[in-house]
Amino acid sequence: MKSSFRGIAEQKPKFEEKDPKRCAAHDCPCRASVNIDGGWTCSAHGAVPADKWPSVTRGLRDHIWLSEFIDEMRTMDRNNGDWRGFAMQFWANSDADCQPHEQEAAIAYQNRMRGELLHRSGATKNRPKPRLPKTPEPSGYFFNRAAT
Ligand SMILES: [Zn+2]
Repeated sequence: MKSSFRGIAEQKPKFEEKDPKRCAAHDCPCRASVNIDGGWTCSAHGAVPADKWPSVTRGLRDHIWLSEFIDEMRTMDRNNGDWRGFAMQFWANSDADCQPHEQEAAIAYQNRMRGELLHRSGATKNRPKPRLPKTPEPSGYFFNRAAT
């Protein structure tokens, strides 16, 4: 039995046999959402080469609280709860940059916090900034300029 599966095991040493909904990286606490090269990983592990997987796994494990916070945000938004008020308070004494901007929509905020999780786990270099609705360009610039 063991030897007949050897060939397959050798082809894909990175991926363990486990719940297909979970990330393929060893010990990763996240759900799989990205297909890379024959296996499903979370977005954090999908963003880095395999040699960085263990450190990203540690990063994610250190930030379980943040991933629970994101889940909480989604649930509150679905149930018309005061996600914004909760988030404002949640970050008030730790990291004000992570508070929702007053014009930031619920989904945009959840996505930013996912990016924040990737950033804090060492999977991405740049910290995400709030994505706000587009504001119209200030009008009258050329008019005023011509008038002076
Ligand atoms: Zn993962």
